[in-house]
Amino acid sequence: MPPAEGKVTGLFMLRVPRGGNSYDEAGLSSDIVPPLYDVIVLGSGPAGLTAAIYATRAALKTLVIAGATAGGQLMITTDVENYPGFPHGIQGPELMELWRKQAERFKADFIDDNVSKVDFTTRPLVVWTSEGKHEARSVVIATGANAKYLGLPNEERLKGHGVSACAVCDAMFFKGVDVVVVGGGDTAMEESLYLSKICKTVTVVHRRDAFRASKIMQDRLFKTPNIKVIWDSEVTDVRGSAKIEGVRIRNRKTGEPSDLKVQGLFLAIGHTPATDFLRGQLELDRGYVVLRPHDGLATATSVEGVFAAGDVHDFRYRQAVTAAGFGSMAALDAERWLQHSGR
Ligand code: NAP
Repeated sequence: MPPAEGKVTGLFMLRVPRGGNSYDEAGLSSDIVPPLYDVIVLGSGPAGLTAAIYATRAALKTLVIAGATAGGQLMITTDVENYPGFPHGIQGPELMELWRKQAERFKADFIDDNVSKVDFTTRPLVVWTSEGKHEARSVVIATGANAKYLGLPNEERLKGHGVSACAVCDAMFFKGVDVVVVGGGDTAMEESLYLSKICKTVTVVHRRDAFRASKIMQDRLFKTPNIKVIWDSEVTDVRGSAKIEGVRIRNRKTGEPSDLKVQGLFLAIGHTPATDFLRGQLELDRGYVVLRPHDGLATATSVEGVFAAGDVHDFRYRQAVTAAGFGSMAALDAERWLQHSGR
């Protein structure tokens, strides 16, 4: 999706929690003891902000540690046409600004900073930012995941002008044209199959001579007439000034370069969940938070009182609307857990 140049910086000011539902005004002083939150939400994309709305409306004292660049992946997206309730579409940053205002309306506290570390081995649970430590009875992790890109200079420049990492989000902008998909995993298969219904042709460029995707997905791809595969090859450059006009590829075995005339480039080479700060604290699988549902708590993790929502655990759907759904579930789970655990 197109990046929202010039819109992101400075949209949200740092707001240290000094009002809202966290401090007694009478007790405010410089040596004040930091409040014990009922829930700290990590992240401020669709999952995190929805968790905050649900938590605050359930009268839980809530802190959102929003991230240094608050708002999540929609902040680098322009047209969002598949989020329900906006028949004419909405710009990603505008949607996140509205979402944030809604969370602030119910008096969640916000810190626009990254989490540097956590300690989930003690009670209360502890989360650190550059401002110091923050304590809570429960935590919702909603830090998301970032799509990987190839790192080519023109790829970066043409993001949103033909370069995308989400077929479901952007396929409609590529109706009836030729596109390339890079990758050989399940995501590449899924993205290609999705695109094949909308685009004229889809060419999958894969760096090896075999896909790592599941057999069933590969079979579906091979059976689709307007999808072809170029094996043992990598994209080495993206061509075009205002929008993509083609890609240069190189055969890794022969070194032979060639050009493909296409109007779209979809990267499907994996995602990196934002979980480095969680290592050793709870169960992760390939970086993703592992859910351990129990007692009707679908978003529970391997640590009691810690819940996860959105792309940080969900590598399957990765949509704003599914992340929002998970955010509401995580807040409802935290509320139920706090009630029943007596913590
Ligand atoms: P993945 O399985 O890690 O596959 C990434 C693909 O991108 C690999 O084929 C890899 O090539 C290629 N790649 C990585 N870096 C590259 C680079 N710099 N240049 C060119 N190619 C590069 O990632 P994924 O497909 O996103 O899937 C992630 C997880 O989600 C997997 O466990 C997958 O099974 C699961 N998933 C499941 C479904 C489903 O069940 N329907 C759908 C989507 C995803 P190599 O093969 O050479 O390493």
